Amino acid sequence: MFQKILIANRGEIACRIIDTCQRMGVSTIAVFSDADRAARHVSMADEAVHLGGPAPADSYLRGEAIIAAAAATGAQAIHPGYGFLSENPDFVEAVEAAGLVFIGPSSRAIRAMGLKDAAKRVMEEAGVPVVPGYHGANQDPGHLAQQAERIGYPVLIKAVAGGGGKGMRRVDDPKDFADALASARSEARTAFGNPDVLIEKYVLQPRHIEVQVFGDGHRAVHLFERDCSLQRRHQKVIEEAPAPGMTPEIRKVMGAAAVRAAEAIGYAGAGTIEFIVDGSEGLREDRFWFMEMNTRLQVEHPVTEAITGIDLVEWQLRVASGEPLPARQDALTISGHAFEARLYAEDVPAGFLPATGRLARLAFPQGARIETGVRQGDTISPYYDPMIAKIVTHGPTRAVALRALESALVDTEVAGSVTNLDFLIALTRHDGFRAGQVDTGLIARDLDDLVAAAEPDPAARVLAVIGLAGLADPQARGGATLWQPLRRTIAWDGGQAVLEVLGPGRARVSLDNQPHEVRWQGDRWWVDDALRRNRIVTHDAGVSVFGGRTVHLVPRDPLARDAAAAGGDALTLSPMPGLVKSVHVSVGQPVRTGDRLAVLEAMKMEHALTAARDGIVAEVLAAEGQQVEAGAALIRLEEEAS
Ligand code: ADP
Ligand code: ADP
Ligand code: MG
Repeated sequence: MFQKILIANRGEIACRIIDTCQRMGVSTIAVFSDADRAARHVSMADEAVHLGGPAPADSYLRGEAIIAAAAATGAQAIHPGYGFLSENPDFVEAVEAAGLVFIGPSSRAIRAMGLKDAAKRVMEEAGVPVVPGYHGANQDPGHLAQQAERIGYPVLIKAVAGGGGKGMRRVDDPKDFADALASARSEARTAFGNPDVLIEKYVLQPRHIEVQVFGDGHRAVHLFERDCSLQRRHQKVIEEAPAPGMTPEIRKVMGAAAVRAAEAIGYAGAGTIEFIVDGSEGLREDRFWFMEMNTRLQVEHPVTEAITGIDLVEWQLRVASGEPLPARQDALTISGHAFEARLYAEDVPAGFLPATGRLARLAFPQGARIETGVRQGDTISPYYDPMIAKIVTHGPTRAVALRALESALVDTEVAGSVTNLDFLIALTRHDGFRAGQVDTGLIARDLDDLVAAAEPDPAARVLAVIGLAGLADPQARGGATLWQPLRRTIAWDGGQAVLEVLGPGRARVSLDNQPHEVRWQGDRWWVDDALRRNRIVTHDAGVSVFGGRTVHLVPRDPLARDAAAAGGDALTLSPMPGLVKSVHVSVGQPVRTGDRLAVLEAMKMEHALTAARDGIVAEVLAAEGQQVEAGAALIRLEEEAS
């Protein structure tokens, strides 16, 4: 076994790898960018090496600097995590040329699977069913249109170099083909530097089912399947294992196909074979097709660990250090059911746009496995994937594991950025999902209902007022009723309410001209006689009420507001260099905290820029299509005349 390894990554996956290293007594070297000096992964590692600026190209993608750091610190191997350099064959070769071990497959195996078209040809040869379509070299638009006709609509245009759901367009009508092709090619050129595409039959009622494989370079085993059908923008939101409706017979056929795929390329380490499945008539042996192989540890690997009891990072370290495969196929079994939810800083109603912010509050419940790279007080920066945490639950049955996921999410507390937390909770309560009826269109189909179910309700806002008044803290509560006026106005950024203390454990809150009776006993709250499963939490950015349909209120502090009016959060600045994609407000328009002001395209992603406080738009300083620097003022707000 290695004594010391370098982890060429950041965030939750770097932390997760360090966890296993610590358990196995392997020393760890972290690497970090300017934006990550104080990051959790740096504090967990035994040593850390600075790489450069916050943009990945200046730090986490600098292969040579990473190899130099490994050499300088005496690391024997490099673990790439996922993303960044994990699927870059040139990096693998450079690591090996420096006399170090790359914890992952060979450069040859990565190359064989790197482009989706070449991968499909390899799989066809290995006798693995592939999605019907065209994956040839001829990129002439007329030829591709002809191929689409032959395949039959609807079709899916895919970037051969694609990843993360980018460079993909569904086309239902031949007249839209030329435009969709042009836009897929241009997105692929920008994101991957390669405009080539392939055309696939669009599978109806598609389910995404993938098989975890593990190889030693010759032989491979599979660790069963994961269902990742709950997706938005072709990206995974909640994953589970095993797949609902899977039978031992179909599992055997899919598992064997995945093992064939891995062995065909002499695969070493952890990998994933992704299949697209036609779920219109349940799962059938002749209705699944190879989509792509991810030649790395996958984001959602914990659900497989939960049902198999295996630590996949431990397996990676053991096989990379020369040990044989730790288990034979017949020794692997499934126990129970597991779910993973991806908690993101993102603006769900704005189309899941990534968001940023300082996490004024971050707390997770006991009883769920939490994978995170941030702590309370840390910042979600615009430079990297805005994932805050993965919440993983395991239970004896699917129903039990799903209820555990729901309650773990309800008990999660995060404030300081918009997040998808309440959206995730709404998903765990979705009837179809609960019944195991999943397909990749579920979220898009029911988006409006899911978003509405995640919106704050009046009772939670009433409790937030109680929190702002200082009544949520049992210590302060007794005194507060004694010396504070019985009737007072509580104001926050965006509104105000009248609070009357009626007696011990009783108050009336008038909000939006609506009186609500509140009663409390210890930490239990009743609003209008209904017991609420909410928690009122005070933090340094205000008050939050958690428990689904989260409410955040920022107190209106006269001094702070004067300071803000003089500058501060009155100005919305560009967090990074980028292109102003759209501006959503005009001069004179009133806005509320959290409203979307503009959308910035940077780091190949779109970012929503939201109002840091209430106000009136005084100036719009940027125009659509304009290139802006980091720190450029985009929108100025002024105080609402009251
Ligand atoms: P998974 O199936 O494991 O979720 P994804 O394709 O969603 O895999 O990507 C996992 C991670 O890798 C994400 O954090 C994503 O940002 C990153 N990633 C995916 N594709 C690329 C790429 N082509 N270049 C850089 N990062 C990528
Ligand atoms: P990426 O590299 O971006 O992960 P994939 O080829 O894995 O690209 O596809 C991403 C997602 O797009 C899948 O999980 C699935 O939801 C959808 N998808 C891909 N191919 C098809 C298809 N032929 N028919 C229907 N949906 C598809
Ligand atoms: Mg994929």
